[in-house]
Amino acid sequence: MKNYKIETQCVQGTYKPESGDPRVLPIAQSTTYRYYDSDDVADLFDLKSATHMYSRISNPTVAELENKMALLEGGVGAVAASSGQAASTLAFLNICQAGDHIVASSTIYGGTFNLFAVTLKKMGIEATFINPDSSCDEIVAAAKENTKALFAETIANPGLNILDFEKFSKAAKIMDVPFIVDNTLATPVLCRPLEHGADIVIHSTTKYTDGHATSVGGVVIDGGTFNWDNGKFPELVEPDPSYHGIQYVKDFGPAAYITKARVQMLRDYGMTMSPFNAFLFHLGLETLHVRMERHCENALKLARFLKGHEGVSWVNYPLLEDCDSYDLAKKYLPKGASGILTFGIKGGNQAGKELIKHMDLTALVVHIGDLRTSILHPASTTHRQLTEEQQIAAGVLPDLIRVSIGIENIDDIIADFDKAIKAVAK
Ligand SMILES: *Cc1c(COP(=O)(O)O)cnc(C)c1O
Repeated sequence: MKNYKIETQCVQGTYKPESGDPRVLPIAQSTTYRYYDSDDVADLFDLKSATHMYSRISNPTVAELENKMALLEGGVGAVAASSGQAASTLAFLNICQAGDHIVASSTIYGGTFNLFAVTLKKMGIEATFINPDSSCDEIVAAAKENTKALFAETIANPGLNILDFEKFSKAAKIMDVPFIVDNTLATPVLCRPLEHGADIVIHSTTKYTDGHATSVGGVVIDGGTFNWDNGKFPELVEPDPSYHGIQYVKDFGPAAYITKARVQMLRDYGMTMSPFNAFLFHLGLETLHVRMERHCENALKLARFLKGHEGVSWVNYPLLEDCDSYDLAKKYLPKGASGILTFGIKGGNQAGKELIKHMDLTALVVHIGDLRTSILHPASTTHRQLTEEQQIAAGVLPDLIRVSIGIENIDDIIADFDKAIKAVAK
C-alpha cells in the first residue's frame, strides 16, 4: 500500500480480508481475546508476541485504524486515543515528566493551550509559548536544558496561520528534541508533516477524519525518525522495570516511541479508543480525499465571495492572495488550505450574534470538520466569559465569525451567507 497514492490509500487502507472474510472492516466489540496456552499469554506480557491481550491496550478494529493513519501519514506506527486531547496528553506524557519543559507555538488550539498552561503545569511540566513568526534563533533560545519537545499545528485553529515547517524543524534539530505537529485541520491528504521534518504527528480524528460529526477520538503517529538515545530520554533507552527490563530503543528500534505509548501509556492511563468509534473513523477515512477536495474548493469560493461583500470587513483564508499565510500555504498546502475560514462582520459583536438567526442551511455548532456547513461567533459563545481586552489578546475579535465550510453545493452556501449578512451587517 505504501507505493499507492494517498487517494488509493484512503479507500483501501491496510485491512486485507482473507477469502470469505467480511469485505468491510468488522467491529471487534470484545474486551478480551482467547488463547490456547498459558505460554501464549506469557509471551504477550513479555511483549514477545504482537497479538491482542486486552482492548485497553489494543484491539483488531482499532489497530486497523491505527495502521491506516500510519500509512496515510507515512509513519512507522500509530496509537489511537479516546479524543484529540487524549492523543496530545499521551504524546507528551510519553516523553515528559515532572521537571521537563515544552516549547510550543502560541497560536495553537485552545484545548491544547490549556493542557500545557494549566494541567501539565500542575504535573510539573512547563511550557514556553513562542510567537510562530519568531526566527529560528528565537525559537531555539526558548529551549532550556530540560526541554523535551517542540510543538505546533500545520494550520492553526482558529488563527489559520500556516506552520513554517522548514524553520521549526530546523529549530527542533538544533534543540535536539522531537518536532511534534498537530495535523488535524490539514489532514494527510493536504499535508504530510513527516515529509517536512516533523517526528511525531497528532490528530483529533473528531474533525475531518470522521467528517460526519459522529465520534470523538484522536491518534498519535510516530515517524520513527527521532534519535531517542541522545541523553535526554532515558525512559526510552534504559530498562523498563514494568516490563521485565524491556528497552524500547534497543528492542523496538524506530518504533520505540510508539511502542512505549501503547504498552505503558495506554496501559496506565487507559485513554483508549472504542472499537465502534474506530470503525466510524476508518469508514470516514475512505472518503477523506474526496471530502477534502470539496471542502477546499468551497472554502476558497466562499472566501472570495465574502471578500467582495459590502457587509464584510475582512476575510482570513490562507489561500487568499493578501493573507499573511499565503506564501506558506502555497508551499505546504498546494492542494488546498482545508475548510475553515474566518471573517469580520460589519456591526461587530451584535451583528455577529444576530447572524445565525438569519441562516437556514448553516448551523451554529461548536465544532469543525463536519460535512455540513457550520458557523460560530466565538465572542458571544465560546469566549464570552472573557473581557473584550482578553478576547482580543486571544485573537477573538468581537466581529469574528468562524466558518467550517461543508461539502454542500457552493451556490446554496453562498446564498445562505449573502442573505444573513445583508440582514445584519451595519
Ligand atoms: C479539536 C481539536 C483538538 C482536540 O480534539 P478533541 O477530539 O476535541 O479532543 C486538538 N487539536 C486541534 C487542532 C483541534 O481542532
